[in-house]
Amino acid sequence: MKTAIYPGSFDPITLGHLNIIRRTSTIFDRVVVCIMPNAGKMHPMFTREERVELARRVVSRVVAHLPNVTVETYDGLLAEYAKQFDKAVIVKGLRAGTDFENEFQMALINQKINPELDTMFLTASQKYTFLSSSVVKELAGYGADLTPFVPCEIIEDVRARAMRSE
Ligand code: ADP
Repeated sequence: MKTAIYPGSFDPITLGHLNIIRRTSTIFDRVVVCIMPNAGKMHPMFTREERVELARRVVSRVVAHLPNVTVETYDGLLAEYAKQFDKAVIVKGLRAGTDFENEFQMALINQKINPELDTMFLTASQKYTFLSSSVVKELAGYGADLTPFVPCEIIEDVRARAMRSE
């Protein structure tokens, strides 16, 4: 069974993430969305447990069409996490040149730690190239309409959290 691990902080999950999940699920037998801490992001909007719950809510709607997607969490090294799967590949979305620089470096580090582990990149859909969780958080802070950016199941949660953190 060919498994794709799609890692990230997903704080919160966006339509850009969902686009990558959908496309990955048609290529691989199984997709594991792996929600991880992100040391570089000091003030997450949601705790890791909350991010898992939000992503599961979104994915469970999609699962009717894509039953091969699950949401998990892990707070260690991704290259170690991948060892539990028989044949696993890391999947990443690439939005721009800056994503490429960072992701290329991460892919090489992961391969150094676990030589069996490959990373594949899917180009972001043109529709979502501009979209990141950070953009969503910023827009939510201004009370902007989040419908074009965030799955409908979690819009209220993002809006409520943005209000509270003002
Ligand atoms: P963000 O940069 O949005 O905080 P994450 O750390 O949660 O992202 O991202 C997880 C993965 O999803 C990364 O590989 C990232 O490049 C990819 N990704 C994030 N947003 C998009 C998007 N709009 N389109 C395609 N890929 C994306």
